[in-house]
Amino acid sequence: MADVVLKNVHKSFGRTAVIHGVDLHVRDGEFVVFVGPSGCGKSTLLRLIAGLEDITAGDLLIDGQRVNDLAPARRGIAMVFQSYALYPHMNVYDNMAFGLELAKSSKAEIDRKVREAARLLQIEQLLDRKPRQLSGGQRQRVAIGRAIVREPKVFLFDEPLSNLDAALRVQTRIEIAKLHNDMRATMIYVTHDQVEAMTLADRIVVLNGGRIEQVGTPLDLYHRPANLFVAGFIGSPQ
Ligand code: ADP
Ligand code: MG
Repeated sequence: MADVVLKNVHKSFGRTAVIHGVDLHVRDGEFVVFVGPSGCGKSTLLRLIAGLEDITAGDLLIDGQRVNDLAPARRGIAMVFQSYALYPHMNVYDNMAFGLELAKSSKAEIDRKVREAARLLQIEQLLDRKPRQLSGGQRQRVAIGRAIVREPKVFLFDEPLSNLDAALRVQTRIEIAKLHNDMRATMIYVTHDQVEAMTLADRIVVLNGGRIEQVGTPLDLYHRPANLFVAGFIGSPQ
């Protein structure tokens, strides 16, 4: 487990600034949810933390270490996207094992980790199947399984449920909450779904135009929104 600290983080693409000085301390084992309108910088912030984009100015610390220049693979982070991007020609087991094989783990070690993750996610009976033989929800669980086997200190989720139908969204949401409970890993989760944010978050970060409007527990934001923007985003369902 690890805490994640952003200190006055800025990001520009060419001459366009999209993140304007974000300060945030995500605590060890905390579940933090980013919300905000489309284009406000949620995905960009996750990609900066993951190391998929370079930080233009400011500092990023993971577990107390400055990681601005550290390669993504060495940050102890795993990211789950909304498009599951499984390898179509590999079965579920191999999809989950692939990253570990690249990291040259032993066969026994890989087997133990894949089976443990499959048990956590209740997909043990699907290990021989190819992605095309899975439902959307099952595919998303395999994608989460691929993250779990790497035993990251920090999980990043970018709208992981947005391709699922309503019933499956609720079920998978409950599973992610349970996963957080079981693993106690630090999780940063992006969603535009207010119910998801309110039910999953220890704290919610409301973003607007590349800046933080407010950070607080779901109840804080609901009862004491800092401004009309937050009230509009959190306070009134639908
Ligand atoms: P969100 O995930 O909140 O919808 P993004 O983080 O994807 O928002 O985007 C934030 C802003 O940065 C948007 O204006 C988007 O157009 C811009 N942006 C994101 N990625 C790039 C990129 N690779 N090049 C140029 N602009 C980008
Ligand atoms: Mg996004």
